[in-house]
Amino acid sequence: MHSIESAAPAARNEHGRSSIEDALWRRALANPLARGYVIALFFVASALLVTLFLQRFFQYPFLFLFFAAVMATAWFGGTGAGFFAVLLSTIAVDYFFVPPFHSFAVNATDGAYFLAFVVCAVAASWVSSSKKKDQAQLQEARDRLEVRVAERTAALERSNAELRQREQQLILLTEVIPQQIWRGAADGSIDYCNQRLLDYVGRTMKEVRGERFMEIIHPEDRGSLRQSWERALSSSLPFEGEFRVCGAGGQYRSFFTRGVPLQEATGNILSWYGTNTDIEELKSAERALMRTQAELAYLSRVLTMGELTASIAHEVNQPLTAVVAFGNACLEWLSADPPNLEEARLAAGRIIKDGARAGAIIARIRALFQKERAAKSQLDMNDVIQELIVFLRHEATRHRISIQTDLDPGLSQIKGDRVQLQQVVLNLIMNAIDALLEAATCQKEVLVRSRNENPTGIRIVVEDSGAGFSPEIAEKIFNPFFTTKSEGIGMGLSISRSIVESHQGRLWAVPRPSGGSIFQFTIPEET
Ligand code: ADP
Repeated sequence: MHSIESAAPAARNEHGRSSIEDALWRRALANPLARGYVIALFFVASALLVTLFLQRFFQYPFLFLFFAAVMATAWFGGTGAGFFAVLLSTIAVDYFFVPPFHSFAVNATDGAYFLAFVVCAVAASWVSSSKKKDQAQLQEARDRLEVRVAERTAALERSNAELRQREQQLILLTEVIPQQIWRGAADGSIDYCNQRLLDYVGRTMKEVRGERFMEIIHPEDRGSLRQSWERALSSSLPFEGEFRVCGAGGQYRSFFTRGVPLQEATGNILSWYGTNTDIEELKSAERALMRTQAELAYLSRVLTMGELTASIAHEVNQPLTAVVAFGNACLEWLSADPPNLEEARLAAGRIIKDGARAGAIIARIRALFQKERAAKSQLDMNDVIQELIVFLRHEATRHRISIQTDLDPGLSQIKGDRVQLQQVVLNLIMNAIDALLEAATCQKEVLVRSRNENPTGIRIVVEDSGAGFSPEIAEKIFNPFFTTKSEGIGMGLSISRSIVESHQGRLWAVPRPSGGSIFQFTIPEET
């Protein structure tokens, strides 16, 4: 039984087709082969209609539009559809335009013309379809290229974003690290400082960039900093140094800086990275320690001298009191009437005896220093000197005096008493400092030199540019209690000479040709 709907005529669309026809039509168009045939039919039919109309105006067969139809079909429908259009055109041309008209037969006279049309149509179809194919391939290659470019661009953007993120993290790291960080270009000019550094100096990046970085360094430290920085730049070796940096409030603090170069595989330097560590606490502790050591050294010197003076006074007092007493007695015997010459002679004899006793006491004290042989050990005098200078330097800097050393790295070792020889060098340097304090010279410098002595042994020289000493007192200065200083004791050089002599050495002084004095002593290698 048929349903009412199936019996009723199907609804027509705007093209006058039923919905079933419409669906079939759509499916046909979806199939590329079928679409090609439809295109061929359309173009050839259009060419036929227009040619039939135009033929009225021409004497000869006007067939160009069929070539156009074939080419257009091959272009839009592909090679198969192109050949189908050639077939249709051949049939249409044969039927309508090649005598006998309205017949598929071909006159022998028009055979060649007809064949030429067919060959030309096939050629037009082939040219058009291959052109189209080339263009399609070109388009495809272009599309593939575009996809590639898009992929590459996306990858590049991704890696750029990652790079930016990493850079951001790095900057964050340099900002949170409890350290001052800086970066220098390959030529050494500073081009980045982290916020911690900028906060400390209270300046903007622009105000510390390049040469302006030197403005935050203590003027006295700029020369040495510039020197070691230039040395690092020319040698490409890590850079280290200590200098004072001016804080936001104008106060200076000491910093230890360390910089390393970032190099390419070829060794070419790209930039320098470095950190500044605040060592102010350490420095002030070190300064306090040095001050204490210097004070201690001074105190021990004074104490030693004080003790010595007291014991000398005590020891010498007895014979001197006796000398005075016998002197008085002698005078009394002589002023008696008649003078008692025998008693006076006896008293004078006692005076001589007690005088000799006082001399013996002094000799014994001098001998004290020569008796201490037990503490002798193998010594490197360079070490002894450097150890001393460490704690004397602060005292010297306080008086704007510079202590320079010129120590022979191949200095022979000697056998000696470390404490005693240190005492000698300490005495000589302290005397040099005293002489410089008295002098009006502008270049206040002490130079300590060490050299090997021929054939064996060593020589230590302490030179200063101070007031010097006059030739008249040149030998007296080594006498006990000889001093030209208001608070001097006059025992330093005398004791020092005793110590040096107890090491079988020699201590002497000469004026420095350019002003000042040179004190030097030698110690033989085996003592
Ligand atoms: P003090 O230092 O107590 O005077 P010293 O025995 O060390 O005792 O020195 C004796 C004297 O030698 C000094 O007072 C000074 O006149 C002289 N003297 C020592 N060292 C130097 C020096 N470097 N330059 C000039 N004179 C010196």
